[in-house]
Amino acid sequence: MALKGLDIFKLTPKTNCKDCGSPTCMAFAMKVAQGAVPLEKCPHLSDAAKEKLSEATAPPMRTIQFGAGENEHALGGETVMMRHEKTFVNKCLYAVEISDAMDAGEISDLLSKTKAVDYERIGEHMYVEIISVHHDPAKSASDYVSAVKLAAEAGRCILLDCTDLAAAKAALEVCKDTKPILDGADAGNAEEMNAIAKEAGAVLGVRGASIDEIYDTVVKLEGLGNKNLMLDVTASSLKETFARAVRLRRAAIKGGDRACGYPAIVNTAKLAPGDSVTQSALAALFTARYGSIIVMGGMSYAQALPLYGLRQNLFTDPQKPMKVTPGIYAINGADENSVCAVTVDFALTYFVVSGEIDRSKVPCNLLITDAGGYSVLTAWAAGKLSASSIAKFFQEMDIAGKIKNRTLIIPGKVAVLKGEIEEKLPGWKVVVGPNEAVQLVRFLKDYQ
Ligand code: SF4
Repeated sequence: MALKGLDIFKLTPKTNCKDCGSPTCMAFAMKVAQGAVPLEKCPHLSDAAKEKLSEATAPPMRTIQFGAGENEHALGGETVMMRHEKTFVNKCLYAVEISDAMDAGEISDLLSKTKAVDYERIGEHMYVEIISVHHDPAKSASDYVSAVKLAAEAGRCILLDCTDLAAAKAALEVCKDTKPILDGADAGNAEEMNAIAKEAGAVLGVRGASIDEIYDTVVKLEGLGNKNLMLDVTASSLKETFARAVRLRRAAIKGGDRACGYPAIVNTAKLAPGDSVTQSALAALFTARYGSIIVMGGMSYAQALPLYGLRQNLFTDPQKPMKVTPGIYAINGADENSVCAVTVDFALTYFVVSGEIDRSKVPCNLLITDAGGYSVLTAWAAGKLSASSIAKFFQEMDIAGKIKNRTLIIPGKVAVLKGEIEEKLPGWKVVVGPNEAVQLVRFLKDYQ
């Protein structure tokens, strides 16, 4: 249960030394209770107070880390139910499922199609982060190991979907260095799976026939000292799966029940086997409602583009403008003799405009000004994009010293600035560009 400010205050040294940046210990305690400052800001807390407070002031949902090297990921750590309340902390991840019931050719084909989905959108790398390897009970441990080895070659994080003790142990032997997730503990095997996962340093996924069974197994595993867990909420029906995902998250965030505060795994390939359209719809549903790892039977570009766009919208911090760094971006081999085009630092604007310039194949220096992360018209209305701000940018970046070409293209939506910019930048020819970025290709080709 979360502590109140007064409870936290009782554990502070009460010296009001101000080393934490707060005027008094009471003010510090109130801020900690609100989650506004971390406990570590006070260097004078006793070890006993730290131990008591760090557990009580930790987020209601644990942050679980897995994977190794460039495939290291974190899930959980959420503090709110809705994105508009604050922000979500760790974006959900997508997994593609292979199985030891597939032949090697099938697995390789699926993995190569999965790896083909790999692109960048507004500065974020979009790809399938996890390969889930399902163990078919009719198959042997060595069949499972072979499938896991093929999955490991894909160079992604691995999720072992396996309740068989021998197969799980053998699979971890070949992939434990990648810090995988072993999704296989249930009411019947919790102790043995716990030992196997702990020995390999793997996160343990917990499943059950009902939400109560999952809960009881988690409590049992926590009693065995394992809090490195995830909850596989996949049930036999969509209704039950969704209910589990929502109830567990609500119990953790609203009810403060830490046994429910673990990231959730949802397997859409089990909910809608062989139906990629329904799986995509379910993946979108669980992206919005509390799936932390969403497993699918495959991932094509047609599935990925809307899903990753949805995820990016939901997991981007609404309080932070999406900005790129102001500066000169030389596109298509632009040099000091190439034309310049100016726009704002709103990330979406930058990626759309730079993409269209790239498509035109015309060398162009894209000048990104500091406009507070606003779009062109918003920045202009807020006074963040003006003749003065552009002139200031030219001076600070020494554009005249770095670029000999004296043509500057401005966005068509702020054509009204042309005269003023020419006044502030003597010697520059200001050209009004198109209103929409998509018209840039034709515009630059004609201009050239
Ligand atoms: S640093 Fe610690 S002891 Fe000093 S005022 Fe802050 S809370 Fe109190």
